Amino acid sequence: MKLALVGYGKMGRVVENVAMERGHEVVARIDPTLDTRDISVATLGGAEVAIEFTVPDVAVDNVTALAAAGVDVVVGTTGWHERLDEAAASVNAAGTGMVHATNFSLGVSLFLRLARMAARMADALNEYDVHILETHHRHKVDHPSGTAITLADILIEELTGKESWSATLPDGAPHPQVLYVASERVGETAGSHVVGLEGPDDRIELRHEARTRAGFARGAVTAAEWIRGKSGVFTLDDMLAETFTY
Ligand code: NAD
Repeated sequence: MKLALVGYGKMGRVVENVAMERGHEVVARIDPTLDTRDISVATLGGAEVAIEFTVPDVAVDNVTALAAAGVDVVVGTTGWHERLDEAAASVNAAGTGMVHATNFSLGVSLFLRLARMAARMADALNEYDVHILETHHRHKVDHPSGTAITLADILIEELTGKESWSATLPDGAPHPQVLYVASERVGETAGSHVVGLEGPDDRIELRHEARTRAGFARGAVTAAEWIRGKSGVFTLDDMLAETFTY
């Protein structure tokens, strides 16, 4: 498959290695640091699918330009999802395909499913206080992480006592109906997410720890293989529904 890399930073480079290992050809690399910012049929060099790992402010414009050029896209950038409708409208109007996920690691998908089951069981017992802690490298610009937000949304769906999530503790005691999401930014870590279930007599933790960025890249390249030639807007979950049938 012919691939374009939109964003040639830490993730773009790892995606390139994984894509080449899997026999794909990288025909375009678009990144201002390479003096290429324009996305057009000419600059995409015949790419069938683009993999987009850039910065939140430019992701929607990039998706729109890729759709206009008739190229399917895998969007890994986080922090832009409040504009998902706008991006989806461009993709649907062009009849191209998009897969987006705040975390393309297949291990994280498994973790999110386990967290949902844990929350459902904790909710039945009604004894555990549930919270989230996410840790990432100190250069990450958005917080909480996109994955922590996805995780929080899943937990709120399952926990009858929680109505919303917050990244900020209030003045005074925390509100029991709020699921608190704590963030740490330290060093060069690849990222971890912990769901803590704090009970009266014990504590249970579910932890996902990324060891390298290659896990995200492998998931993104798998998504590129899956989206090629499809029309519409999909999440990684839609793709994995073909694998996890429960
Ligand atoms: P990075 O800072 O190393 O790379 C971002 C790159 O985007 C830079 O090289 C920058 O020059 C480039 N860029 C900026 N504007 C651009 C534009 N208009 N067109 C093309 N390129 C542009 O960051 P990173 O670690 O590679 O992460 C990129 C994004 O991916 C972040 O939003 C991060 O949170 C997210 N991320 C997602 C996953 C996932 O699985 N979904 C995993 C890791 C990181």
